[in-house]
Amino acid sequence: MTPYRISIVGTGYVGLCTAVGFASKGYNVLTSTHDPKKASLINKGTPPFHEPHLEEMLQKAVKNGYLRCMLDHEEAILNTDITFIAVGTPSKPNGSIDLRYIEGSACEIGGALKKKETSHLVVVKSTVVPGTTKNVVKPAIEKHSGKRCSIDFGLCMNPEFLREGSALQDTLHPDRIIIGEYDKKSGDVLEALYREFYEGDMPPLIRTNLPTAEFIKYANNAFLAMKVSFINSVANLCQKTPEADVKAVAQAIGLDKRIGSLFLNAGLGWGGSCWPKDLNALLSYSKDLDIDLPLVDATLKVNHNQPHIALSLARSLIGELKGKRIAVLGLSFKPNTDDVREAVSIKIINKLLNEGAEVVTHDPQAIDNAKAVLGNRVQYERNVRNCLKDADCCIIVTEWDEYRALRPQDFRSYMKNPAIVDGRRIYDPKAFKSVKFAAVGLGTTDS
Ligand code: NAD
Repeated sequence: MTPYRISIVGTGYVGLCTAVGFASKGYNVLTSTHDPKKASLINKGTPPFHEPHLEEMLQKAVKNGYLRCMLDHEEAILNTDITFIAVGTPSKPNGSIDLRYIEGSACEIGGALKKKETSHLVVVKSTVVPGTTKNVVKPAIEKHSGKRCSIDFGLCMNPEFLREGSALQDTLHPDRIIIGEYDKKSGDVLEALYREFYEGDMPPLIRTNLPTAEFIKYANNAFLAMKVSFINSVANLCQKTPEADVKAVAQAIGLDKRIGSLFLNAGLGWGGSCWPKDLNALLSYSKDLDIDLPLVDATLKVNHNQPHIALSLARSLIGELKGKRIAVLGLSFKPNTDDVREAVSIKIINKLLNEGAEVVTHDPQAIDNAKAVLGNRVQYERNVRNCLKDADCCIIVTEWDEYRALRPQDFRSYMKNPAIVDGRRIYDPKAFKSVKFAAVGLGTTDS
């Protein structure tokens, strides 16, 4: 094992999963947060959010003494060799990136480095617009440490590609590692860390400069979002074309190796903590440079309109929604997470409430987070059967496995007059002929 000791600023999805990943291989990791409640939870081995396998791995790491969460960044930094910055980079109201947490943590790291005599590497893992690491992080550290980048401390930008819902698997087996380096020595240290971490299973590695690494993350997310918005546009056309089915279209075009089958599932749109803010940040960055990004613009526009489809499909089955009881299955922005940030469910529910519908919801993990957003305007059920009881229509919004397992007879026995909107294409329409059924991208003779 290298002598590298690791500190991580930020204990959200990226910070904590990265910390647990390193600790699982015997690295000593100190995470830090300003939130005493969160620190206490983490030190008891309790994750502050839901992520598959996180709890067991965190408990093991804490019990074995490989991971500790501190309230004092300085102590964490002084006792380690490499610090990853994994704080949030939300949107400002105008869509541009809000760098206040990045800048704040860079200042704090600088303050700690002032007292440190040995060399240190700082690695930006958060998603930041091109130029941020060099023009915001570096000067803040230099100012607060009184030290010079590349001479007294190293600096890298190492974008993160983990996905909520499979974050630990992605951390332990990423598709590739990108190292943006301020100087060769900084890149060498980070490469050495990763080579040792992955041992014989080293993923493809790309070493580049700081802004290119920053760009790679935005280009990656924008492309994926564009692929989903593209198939959603095709779905909307199929839906208006009798007998057409986007699912078969997606399957067929996905077999073209140049296209590939992933991220071609038509649905009610995408949400989450990353794509919406990253595409808006990219758009805002391009406006500053006076460059048009019409594809990114269109990707966002398609996504903005997509949740409406849920309501028009529901209306096609049960008529006016006013006064109707609608069961919404799924609140998290995707399965296997409790994250409801920018979740499509929230948009659909707000639209349903605006139309005067009564909304009852279910989610295996995200009810508490959804309550913080929606309050008591909707009813929450922790059991699917209770959610469906007496509902006039059920809309599948998140493709949890629990919902995939439901059969037409389940809806028939739970609901009075079953009407189902499959917003994520999880059911075979042929199997649902015995109930009122509509699905995104499925053309019918009536629609
Ligand atoms: P998050 O909102 O879950 O967590 C961010 C954490 O940073 C919060 O716990 C917050 O309290 C903490 N924080 C803010 N300022 C701090 C400071 N000065 N000191 C200590 N802690 C501080 O965010 P996340 O989802 O983990 O994302 C972090 C970054 O990684 C973002 O830039 C995001 O775009 C990027 N990213 C996220 C994902 C993902 O799936 N969530 C994937 C890849 C990249």
